[in-house]
Amino acid sequence: MADAALDALYQEVILDHNRRPRNFHPMEHASCSADGRNPNCGDQLTVWLRVDDDVVSDVSFQGQGCAISKASASMMTDAIKGKSRGDVVQLYEKVHKLVTGEDPALAKDKELGSLRALSGVSKFPMRVKCASLSWHAMKAALDGASVVTTEGPEDARSAS
Ligand code: ZN
Repeated sequence: MADAALDALYQEVILDHNRRPRNFHPMEHASCSADGRNPNCGDQLTVWLRVDDDVVSDVSFQGQGCAISKASASMMTDAIKGKSRGDVVQLYEKVHKLVTGEDPALAKDKELGSLRALSGVSKFPMRVKCASLSWHAMKAALDGASVVTTEGPEDARSAS
């Protein structure tokens, strides 16, 4: 597919998730949760996770922010539900490399499915934080932290 057509398709995926975010609600009886804040853009969201026998059996989010942050969070919930903790961490690492542009080959990695729509943000440093916010919050929740901010020590990785 030509680059222009692919860009248009990816843009449509992001707009769709922004308009109709999946799993967009608070969760009762969550195993863990964390707040993500990106003061640069004003994005704020909470991610809830239900972990049973080391499997993320349910995940949801709620918050407000730009289209990229919301679409990325929505896609994240779709992507990790039903996966083992190990697989989720692996995906987190992949998405981090995808949005920062650290590994350009990932933009063609079929395993990432619609998450590849996020590859375009690597050209916009401000947007990288928007796209990775929900993923950082999800990882923080799994690691037992309750708040993550793009301006805090957690950002040490994405700055590299
Ligand atoms: Zn944003």
